[in-house]
Amino acid sequence: MQMRIFDSIQKRKVVFEPIKEGEVSIYVCGPTVYDDAHLGHARSALSFDMLNRTLKALGYKVTMAKNFTDIDDKIINKMHNSNKSLKEITDYYIDRYLSEMEALGVKRADIEPKATESIDAIEQMINSLIKKGCAYRVDNGDIYFDTSKDNRYGTLSHMVNNEDDMQSRICQSDQKRDPKDFALWKACSEPEICFDTTLGKGRPGWHIECSAMIEKHFDNKGEYRIDIHGGGADLLFPHHENEASQTRCATGCEIAKYWMHNGFVQIDGEKMSKSLGNSFFLKDALGVYGGELLRFYLISVHYRNDFNFNEEDLLSTKKRLDKLYRLKKRVYGIKSGTLDSEFKDTLLEAMSDDLNSSKALSVIDTMVSVANDRLDKEPKNRQFKQAIVANIEYIDTLMGFGGSDPFEWFQQGISDEQKSKINKLIAQRGEAKKAKDFKKADEIREELLGMGVQLMDTNEGTKWERVDR
Ligand SMILES: [Zn+2]
Repeated sequence: MQMRIFDSIQKRKVVFEPIKEGEVSIYVCGPTVYDDAHLGHARSALSFDMLNRTLKALGYKVTMAKNFTDIDDKIINKMHNSNKSLKEITDYYIDRYLSEMEALGVKRADIEPKATESIDAIEQMINSLIKKGCAYRVDNGDIYFDTSKDNRYGTLSHMVNNEDDMQSRICQSDQKRDPKDFALWKACSEPEICFDTTLGKGRPGWHIECSAMIEKHFDNKGEYRIDIHGGGADLLFPHHENEASQTRCATGCEIAKYWMHNGFVQIDGEKMSKSLGNSFFLKDALGVYGGELLRFYLISVHYRNDFNFNEEDLLSTKKRLDKLYRLKKRVYGIKSGTLDSEFKDTLLEAMSDDLNSSKALSVIDTMVSVANDRLDKEPKNRQFKQAIVANIEYIDTLMGFGGSDPFEWFQQGISDEQKSKINKLIAQRGEAKKAKDFKKADEIREELLGMGVQLMDTNEGTKWERVDR
């Protein structure tokens, strides 16, 4: 089965052909760690997590890197305003980011470089850019990249000519030779945020870190450094354009063979932004909906399309996931058997088609309804039940959901205190049944039902789930 991806340079879907047979190197731009992650971070992480899982399912050995930008104006501002050290701030947000990603089921990257730990590689790359005449120093000690030295500047984003004022807004300086030029190194003297290097005392600009990290951690020495470079669509210009240009000028090689970009997240039809006050922090969404449902909801729309977050949609999407868990309940306690190869191929085919997750979810819906129908007709078909268990395990591996205990799934939203009360009543009912006091056992069942708890006696003992009263 071939992997097809939408490449941002060619602006079309292409068959993925790795640099080294059987291996894939991926670099995804990670967060700047000065604040909690929002839904946009979640969407980007999920998009490339699906890429990682799909390529692995196709048999590739995947090496994935995702960086942390841990030195930046926003972090420094926070440091000055909070009396905390740079490291206190960045360590805190890196930990939060990683635990929130874990809750979403996003696999950790194999390489997680930090800018402050990559100064050697950054220094080396800037020095080679200076040597090649592609960078220049201005009076205050800052070093700029000279975009005029790269005749392919703009070929990635296709937008340089009409958008060059964008970049001048981002890196304003009167000393730049061209508005498109951008800072590689910012001279400074404050000890905590400055590094003493052959470039002088200073700190790196944002764009250079990704190029330098790729140079440091990936050893392809041919035409391309890595197979796939990814990130949110907002990074295409100027960030990715600048990364591509720096690597091209410093090494003579292209940074990546393919580029992939995920779409934006909107909240109820509006762009999510701090100024609009509708930034949706991931921690808040996780607290309300839980990681698995949030993941399911966020991947229900193709990664390249913009995503419109809307609670009503989320709750109706939950019903689809509930159906999978109801099926899982019907095969509870059954050992896994042979995976249905037709189901596996159809699901993987959907994901291999530029991560068509919305199609993949409909393949899963069909599997669930066909399985339910057949279970109605053949309730004792053990082999079939084992195949269903295997199918659900495969869904968990490839898509990252469906792996929870089906009974616990339907117990969400019930506090630990309530749970212990419920378990106590279930134990009392068990005692009553043992003593053949069926009247009391029934009364307890009714009492629990009144609390919104339905009991099911299974081979594995009495289970319960939450029901709507
Ligand atoms: Zn980057």
